[in-house]
Amino acid sequence: MPITVTSPLLPDLGEFNSLLQEIWDSKWITNNGSFHKRLETALAEYLKVPYVSLFTNGTLPLLTALQALRITGEVITTPYSFVATTHAIWWNGCKPVFVDIDPATGNMDPDRIEAAITPKTTAIMPVHVYGKPCDTRRIQEIADKYGLKVIYDAAHAFGVEVNGESILNAGDMSTLSFHATKVFNTIEGGAMVMHDAETKKRIDFLKNFGFANEVEVVGPGINSKMDEIRSAYGLLNLKQVDAAIEARHQVAIRYREALRNVEGITFFDDMPGVRHNYSYFPIFVDGDKYGMTRDELYFKMKENGVLGRRYFYPLISTFSTYRGLPSATPENLPKAHRMADSVICLPMHHALSEEDVNKVISLIIKQ
Ligand SMILES: *Cc1c(COP(=O)(O)O)cnc(C)c1O
Repeated sequence: MPITVTSPLLPDLGEFNSLLQEIWDSKWITNNGSFHKRLETALAEYLKVPYVSLFTNGTLPLLTALQALRITGEVITTPYSFVATTHAIWWNGCKPVFVDIDPATGNMDPDRIEAAITPKTTAIMPVHVYGKPCDTRRIQEIADKYGLKVIYDAAHAFGVEVNGESILNAGDMSTLSFHATKVFNTIEGGAMVMHDAETKKRIDFLKNFGFANEVEVVGPGINSKMDEIRSAYGLLNLKQVDAAIEARHQVAIRYREALRNVEGITFFDDMPGVRHNYSYFPIFVDGDKYGMTRDELYFKMKENGVLGRRYFYPLISTFSTYRGLPSATPENLPKAHRMADSVICLPMHHALSEEDVNKVISLIIKQ
């Protein structure tokens, strides 16, 4: 069996069956049922945030956040992410404006934001890539100075805290993905985090076609509700997510010990004061120093049954929809290109055995 980059955290089937029995008995399978309510409450508590609205995936809360805040014109974002970040901007009829990243974190470089602001700019959409927190204080200062909204794509940042505070409290809204490949999953699923009850109410209307009650539609809503079955599944996974994060942490410790002195291989260390979720373990290959290019190592691993992934390669700014944008040129994004061209995300999940981890390490160490 190949060693895959991730493996879904699955609830105990017996426990899931008894929750399914409850749902079958209630005959209430979607539309803000009791498991949906319970998961929203449990997540708000676990994540240390005031309000959570569940969604059916992690892309729809991005789309809905931009709608709800009536974002128009230009949105400043990062090319170093999963493509859904930029698609959400495009689907709202806005123009993505890419700024380069800070190689120390992989996140949008706050020093480059101001130069990208024009009279048409209305929002900033940063990503906490690999779950590494953005410099949210700096970004907020810039946003306040120019009157911009900030929407964080926090799809990788489930449970990430800085000095005991959730990173999800930054900005106007943050969005999460609960896709099967993420640290916490509901198979497909997602959420939006917001600061006040009024916004939560509005988002809850918008994700249900704009219905405020049986006869009133308050806006052009969409359907992005999570159902009862996946909400129940999520409640069970929430009980085991801390153990899963700790198992990932142990894998990260092993990788770092073994790879620290390998010439031409670098990786991120933990940041002080941050509770990381170890959602990914990216390594960066310097072909000249390592003696093998990133792709040579990637394919060698693949041939040997270790399926790393080149997240995030190619850069979003190189896809056909976006490469004609003025901000999409390689000259504007040299650091993002360098990172995309050198990255391999190593297998990282809660169920990796010591043997698996040793196999990954030995493929990298022995050339
Ligand atoms: C996974 C992911 C999404 C999309 O989430 P889905 O639940 O798959 O729709 C958005 N942004 C980033 C950065 C992601 O990694």
